[in-house]
Amino acid sequence: MEKSLIVIRLVLIYLTVLSRFRQGAGVWLLCLAILPFSLGYSQESKVERARPMMGTMVEITVFRDTSSPKEIKAGREPEEEAIELAFQAISRVDGLMSNYKADSQLSLINQQAGRDYVRVAPEVLKVINMAIGIAELSGGAFDITVAPLVQLWGFHKKSGHMPPEEEIHKLLPLVNYKNILIDQEKNRVKLKLPGMAIDLGGIAKGYAVDRAIEVLKNNGIQRALVNAGGDLFALGHPPTRKFWHLGIRHPFVPDRVVSTLQVRDQAVATSGNYENFFVLNGKRYSHILDPKTGQPIQGIASVTVLAKTALEADALATTVAVLGPQKGMDLLNSQPDTEGIIILDERNRPSYLLSPGLEGKLSFNF
Ligand code: ADP
Ligand code: MG
Repeated sequence: MEKSLIVIRLVLIYLTVLSRFRQGAGVWLLCLAILPFSLGYSQESKVERARPMMGTMVEITVFRDTSSPKEIKAGREPEEEAIELAFQAISRVDGLMSNYKADSQLSLINQQAGRDYVRVAPEVLKVINMAIGIAELSGGAFDITVAPLVQLWGFHKKSGHMPPEEEIHKLLPLVNYKNILIDQEKNRVKLKLPGMAIDLGGIAKGYAVDRAIEVLKNNGIQRALVNAGGDLFALGHPPTRKFWHLGIRHPFVPDRVVSTLQVRDQAVATSGNYENFFVLNGKRYSHILDPKTGQPIQGIASVTVLAKTALEADALATTVAVLGPQKGMDLLNSQPDTEGIIILDERNRPSYLLSPGLEGKLSFNF
């Protein structure tokens, strides 16, 4: 009897505290989102490393397989070794596909625009082919030849500014994925017009995450999370849970989480107008551009896509942001094993749209 009274009292105290913090409901959700990284798992079994790469912080979390004996190579635990190799795989992708590195194969293609074919590694061709596939699927909403516009707007240097309208119009004819010429047999790529350029910023991080996961798997890892600044893949699940619990960030309030996703053997990527943007007269201008108008997207705060691979999730999140809520959702619905969440950019109160597969499975708190 006394025991139950104590329990009731504790519940009442808890409810009082909770009601005091009601305005800060996000904090409670944030706690939830952080749980997997702090409380939920046994600390000894987890190995976590982070490295600045590809213009973001890449985080790799791996759980040790404590059931089988380990072989220690070069004085490093096998999990440490696997993580190191995964980082190397990401670094290789960056070295090939970055347009910040003048000697990357991508930069060579851009330097030879309107002139000559450039022979590239099979991975570069693969990513370009995949990007063209998504361009075709989206009627050109996703277009990696958007690079000259990204540069004109200053987003490549993270110093966005409004360019003169006529400058935008001058560049529009250079933006067309159909002018990427590919010699599939000889692994060669050429940009048809001088001044054209490719930017893989909307797809390469996803591909790098997939490569890192492949390397981890090949090294015996079964439970891992590779997160390249919001483009991630969740392999297996943590030992004490059935899923990875991942918070979806509030698009405008830093460190606030609006919903929690539960994922396993799936990729998740988020694109938004809050990553790389500037504000002019109260309006946000972000680094995701509509290739048809040369203007930054409007009306969408963030798009989160769940897919089989991080490459698809990454590219589709950018694509849906360009297509807008209706056409974007239609595109996600047309793709197998793909779900999405669109958070609309509405001043007074953000609202959201869910693809049918997520309906009723998520709760939101803005
Ligand atoms: P983040 O890099 O923040 O994860 P995204 O995946 O959405 O964001 O990629 C945005 C980048 O994609 C831009 O910085 C630019 O390099 C490139 N990009 C912008 N607009 C497009 C577009 N319409 N199609 C393809 N790539 C784009
Ligand atoms: Mg993307």
